[in-house]
Amino acid sequence: MADIIQLLPDHIANQIAAGEVIQRPASVVKELLENAIDAESTEIKLIVKDAGKTLIQVIDNGKGMSVTDARMCFERHATSKIKSADELFAIKTKGFRGEALASIGAIAHVELVTRTAQEELATRIWMEGSKITKQEFVQAAGGTQFSIKNLFFNVPARRKFLKSEPVEFKHILDEFHRVALAHPEISLSLHHNGNEIYRLTKGNLKQRIIAIFGKNLDEKLLAVQEQVDIIHIRGFIGKVEIAKKSPGDQYIFVNNRYIKSSYLNHAIKAAYDQLLQPDQYPSYFIYLDIDPAQIDINVHPTKTEIKFEEERLIYNYIRGAVKHALGKYLVVPTLDFETDTNFGARVPQPSAIGRGSSDMPQTGTSYQSHASQLERENLKNWENIYSGMKTTPTGDTQPVIKQTSLDFQEDDQHRNTSSKDPYQIHQSYIMSTILSGFILIDQQYAHERILYEDTLHSIGGHPRPIQKELFPFTLDLLPAKADALRSLLPKINALGFEIEEFGQHTFILHGTPMGLTKNTSPVQLIENLIEQYLDQQELQLGIDENLARSWASTACIKRGKNLSVEEMKALIDQLFACETPYISPFGKKCFLTFDMEDLKKKF
Ligand code: ADP
Ligand code: MG
Repeated sequence: MADIIQLLPDHIANQIAAGEVIQRPASVVKELLENAIDAESTEIKLIVKDAGKTLIQVIDNGKGMSVTDARMCFERHATSKIKSADELFAIKTKGFRGEALASIGAIAHVELVTRTAQEELATRIWMEGSKITKQEFVQAAGGTQFSIKNLFFNVPARRKFLKSEPVEFKHILDEFHRVALAHPEISLSLHHNGNEIYRLTKGNLKQRIIAIFGKNLDEKLLAVQEQVDIIHIRGFIGKVEIAKKSPGDQYIFVNNRYIKSSYLNHAIKAAYDQLLQPDQYPSYFIYLDIDPAQIDINVHPTKTEIKFEEERLIYNYIRGAVKHALGKYLVVPTLDFETDTNFGARVPQPSAIGRGSSDMPQTGTSYQSHASQLERENLKNWENIYSGMKTTPTGDTQPVIKQTSLDFQEDDQHRNTSSKDPYQIHQSYIMSTILSGFILIDQQYAHERILYEDTLHSIGGHPRPIQKELFPFTLDLLPAKADALRSLLPKINALGFEIEEFGQHTFILHGTPMGLTKNTSPVQLIENLIEQYLDQQELQLGIDENLARSWASTACIKRGKNLSVEEMKALIDQLFACETPYISPFGKKCFLTFDMEDLKKKF
């Protein structure tokens, strides 16, 4: 039989390879931006038309290419970034496979203009389907400019299966964000269809994050900084209050390369522990600097997956570092509870964790397991507070009760005195005695927590009773607010309102939630609620979460409000009936506990 095997011609081989590297316009953006960075550019412009289907242009001020290199760069496996196999294990550049430009040149119309600092004239090259169609010398600034037109012109299947423009542009934005976050030291701009979307000047990491995701993040970021033997962990994590209902702004970079790792995502989520509900996702921008020999980035051509030599260790380091950052800001609530319980040894202050860099994981880990065990114990105790109060007349001597840190004092002898009644301090804090000492509740944060959980419960299928108004109110709203109210109407009515649409921007309010403390008129209350809701929309919290937070902050009892003993008792009751009584929906502590032993020592 005759020989039948042949080598594929280059342009076909390239086209096949392109299938793996270039899936959509965003892949071209990624490759071109990364090449510009590898060329040591300090300023990079990205210009896109029709979400990249018509044009993707990247202009950099990097080192440029000589005439020969300008032709060479389109060859398959042509790279200036590694020369030998050894170098594969010490890669500092983004690229090294020499595949991207060969792939792009096979499936698009490419124009390249490039000039090195040494040359006077720039080289201009046109390429189509892996063939150079024209070459000339031109005047141009130093650096490189790639223009990619008619992507997938010869791969109709690919072109046909591109998603809608907004979807493709979202992918481009994602790539742009990743590169921009990895390199705050580089100025970057993005234009789409003639509009400037971003102009990011060089700066530090925090400035870059805020420039991309908005000023409202400014106060919401906690710095992470931990140096241990094999790895440097740095970056920022979002406070609890900006956690989202879907994994949104979660970024991990290894040696300034964006990577995907569900394992490391898990480590970070685990550090937040009970601070987040199971369906909440933290925001983070975590950067790992690690010896390239410790990792393998060769796993996939698009290089977002990575293998670590010491994966488990790195998991623990990251979890410890994030926990540390959270602890510094919140002094995790557990620590307060711990001091007034008799569970055993004191928990080390979180600032002690990771102080000695090399022993960090051990300390960090033991702290975590101890703390979260205590947290769980404490959570169990919440449930006992009032049941204990009703059924068990107690004395200090009873060991069982001593264990329950928050048993409210219910000594029969004092039954008719007011010593067990809560007491309001400066119309802001509620003091109540508990067996081991006393507890100080922030009335506003506590009530926010109560309303928050109550809202989620009500809109989750347990509507609250309505109090009919004798005289209905009319709500005249601005168009944007009217739209929002209309879309939220069933949920807002589940809170105990009875609101009915009446004309284009007008609503009639027939009823308000039973037992609602009315500091403000119901009309004002609804207006404030909608305003808060719209404000928070950019946090992308999800409708229910946003509404619950908005209602909590709008309708809560504010600091400065006088409360009767009965009101205080009810508030304490409701707080400790909550699932997470110790923290407000915005991440503030709802109460502090004070221990008699500690008080004694203070005198
Ligand atoms: P890789 O980045 O893996 O080396 P590419 O196909 O992306 O492969 O690029 C091939 C070569 O072209 C690079 O190694 C580099 O020498 C050169 N090159 C590509 N883009 C630029 C640029 N913007 N400025 C200077 N040189 C570039
Ligand atoms: Mg490259």
